[in-house]
Amino acid sequence: MIEPEAQKRDKCVADALAVPMRLFEGACLYPPGEIRTRQGGIYQVFTPFWKAILARPDPPAPLASPDHLFVPKVWPESAALDDLALLPRHDWASGLDAHWDVGEKAAHKRLAVFLEDDIPAYIQARDRPDRAGTSGLSPHVHFGEISPRQLWHRAQAACFRMDAAKEGAQAFLRQVAWREFAYHLLAHIPGLPESPMRPAFATFPWEKNETGLRAWQRGQTGYPIVDAGMRQLWQTGTMHNRVRMIVASFLVKDLMIHWHAGARWFWDTLVDADLANNSMGWQWVAGCGPDAAPFFRIFNPVSQGQTHDPQAAYIRHYVPEIAALPARYIYQPWTAPASVLDKAGILLGTHYPFPIVDHQKARQRALQGYKEMKKTM
Ligand SMILES: Cc1cc2nc3c(=O)[nH]c(=O)nc-3n(C[C@H](O)[C@H](O)[C@H](O)COP(=O)(O)OP(=O)(O)OC[C@H]3O[C@@H](n4cnc5c(N)ncnc54)[C@H](O)[C@@H]3O)c2cc1C
Repeated sequence: MIEPEAQKRDKCVADALAVPMRLFEGACLYPPGEIRTRQGGIYQVFTPFWKAILARPDPPAPLASPDHLFVPKVWPESAALDDLALLPRHDWASGLDAHWDVGEKAAHKRLAVFLEDDIPAYIQARDRPDRAGTSGLSPHVHFGEISPRQLWHRAQAACFRMDAAKEGAQAFLRQVAWREFAYHLLAHIPGLPESPMRPAFATFPWEKNETGLRAWQRGQTGYPIVDAGMRQLWQTGTMHNRVRMIVASFLVKDLMIHWHAGARWFWDTLVDADLANNSMGWQWVAGCGPDAAPFFRIFNPVSQGQTHDPQAAYIRHYVPEIAALPARYIYQPWTAPASVLDKAGILLGTHYPFPIVDHQKARQRALQGYKEMKKTM
């Protein structure tokens, strides 16, 4: 395992066993350390990393399940699973249950359906939060219910079966390679969750803004695509990848709140919360990470909604209080004339907030912060 806590756990288990413990590779496509630049360093840019993967033989095929397991003649005394009281006492998780089938069987079924039905349209659909166009496998991958090697080999097999799957499968495996990139980085840079990979960002003038953070967490920023994403997260435990980028950009650039605060909230609320992917995702958006989006690439929360949720179906679903607004205004309700708001039954500031920041001004402020940080370099 690669995460520092998982390594500690494995060591504890190994120390407690009377027999030697054998570990089997499978958390990654290739063991971290195997993919190196010509100079022997690790890749810090994704595209050459991906090309290096493509130039290699396929990752090993997953091992078959063992025919039988050796069990002790006498089981040691132990607590019953129920005694551990792992499930929450208050039933806050039933909303999540409705969206997820947990377990290995469910993971394999999801992959089969995705490869059969969705892979040909993956490239067109993967950036559309209003469609179920991606695999939805990340929690299953995180919990080891399905391995990246299984994804790799099953997607390759789908290409042989269906010509139409080829491009989609390649794009899907490229995403799986982003996960691989994150894991290889974490293996070499254990400080990835805390320290910016570009050290200059340690001096970035982040702001303390508890009210802004709370509005963001609750989906009450006044920007419908941001609020839809944050509510999807709260209700289902997941959020579409494109929307993760939009809401993260909003937090670190429009509100200038430290990416640590966003990463912590995602960590507490995502069902696929994953140290390597989450840390890399936040550093990428904040502009301080490996192969990061440049800081001055600041997502516009209005045009992002218009482009990626063109019928506003995603917004209407998660922000129902503004669902009656016509498409022209739904991405920026504050621009709607009073008569339109009236007709839709919306009183801004009462039923739905005014924007908590003016995006254009916030953009300028963030760019100024970036300039100040550069002066310290
Ligand atoms: C700010 C931010 C935080 C994120 N936090 C997490 C996290 O905690 N856990 C997590 O698993 N992913 C995280 N991601 C990556 C990505 O959003 C999810 O992996 C993706 O939404 C999962 O949906 P899917 O399984 O339908 O993806 P698909 O498009 O079907 O992709 C297949 C698999 O590839 C991997 N993958 C896809 N996109 C990425 C990516 N950008 N980075 C790394 N791996 C990827 C996942 O394992 C995924 O299951 C984050 C992205 C951002 C921008």
